[in-house]
Amino acid sequence: MVYLMDKINGCINASGRMTKLGVSTQSHGVKDAMNYGASNYFLMDDLYKISGETLASLFDAPDAVITSSASAGISLSVAAVLCKDHDAQIQKIHDSSMQDYPHEIVLPKGHNVDFGAPIQTMIETGGGCVIEAGYANKCTQRDVELCINKKTAALMYVKSSHCVQKDMLSLEEMLDIARQFKKPLILDCAAEIDFTSFTKMGIDYVIYSGSKALMGPTSGFVLVQSQDDAINLRKHIYGVGRGMKIGKENIFGLIQAAYEYTTSSQNFEVSYDDLDPFIETLNTINGVYAQKIKDESGRDIYRAKVHFDAQILGISAHEIIHRLEKGTPQIFTRNYDANQGMISFDPRPLQHKNDLDIIIKRIKEVLSDVEVL
Ligand SMILES: *Cc1c(COP(=O)(O)O)cnc(C)c1O
Repeated sequence: MVYLMDKINGCINASGRMTKLGVSTQSHGVKDAMNYGASNYFLMDDLYKISGETLASLFDAPDAVITSSASAGISLSVAAVLCKDHDAQIQKIHDSSMQDYPHEIVLPKGHNVDFGAPIQTMIETGGGCVIEAGYANKCTQRDVELCINKKTAALMYVKSSHCVQKDMLSLEEMLDIARQFKKPLILDCAAEIDFTSFTKMGIDYVIYSGSKALMGPTSGFVLVQSQDDAINLRKHIYGVGRGMKIGKENIFGLIQAAYEYTTSSQNFEVSYDDLDPFIETLNTINGVYAQKIKDESGRDIYRAKVHFDAQILGISAHEIIHRLEKGTPQIFTRNYDANQGMISFDPRPLQHKNDLDIIIKRIKEVLSDVEVL
């Protein structure tokens, strides 16, 4: 008997890989691997090293470090670029004496986002000081170059739908500057689905979440360019990283999830094709216009984007969202464009094909409740 089970209900997640909804559910293979990890003892230093090497070989990288989350990966990467192999500094990354060493992290202002928590806080946790390059809506190569001085420890770039997309310098342009000024480049691409290209490009620290595209348990990892980089990053496990410890069961789960991903044995209950009848049915409702659209940051991910015409329906998208969340079962959608009357539905996190039918049924109920009023 799962003791907590009766005390909280599960919900339908049509939103995406959202931390506030539990990010992802795990495959049987991943759960078996976690069970194996949870049932045995290991020399943890060996497990960190070997699991990192294993992950690196799955993604064709020189080495990798497993972390408790992508957020921890950001903090530890920053700590690693600040301290390098200076053990004395590792013990005092928040000491004021660290100001004498390079500690500034240059980040385009439009990338200084809140991904569910502020990226700036993660950088500061690792001892870094954020220097914003450019403006909220524009950042050029020149804007970044103007921020580089003798206090600069690294450049950072964020590849995410959370970021301002237009008028930002490209990742390639950022890498050119990093090479020219001989500074390491940290890339937060936590939710990306490409696990090989960025390291191949030569980016020094490439940070992923283990529970997003890979559908692993709560975890993260950093792909690095050398074993020394991995060693220097892992040193912080015994410093600031202690509060971000990942358990052995999650390490086993993450590696299994990465293996399933690279061997295409990941199993989605609901496919992008299943969106077609869903969209067709929604389009039969007067005032509802649905279409299948590709992810805004260019990833090969498709969602149903639905416009609810408040004039015709007598109810706003915000109110529809509110009622879906409060109903039974609770349904969570993707709401970034709710101000424009749009609600998006992400099929990837759905657990059953008939979740789409339940969503349609609930939408129809919400809309017909309005007519009664
Ligand atoms: C999700 C996300 C994170 C945080 O990932 P966690 O593994 O939950 O810490 C960081 N950056 C971006 C861009 C994200 O999308």
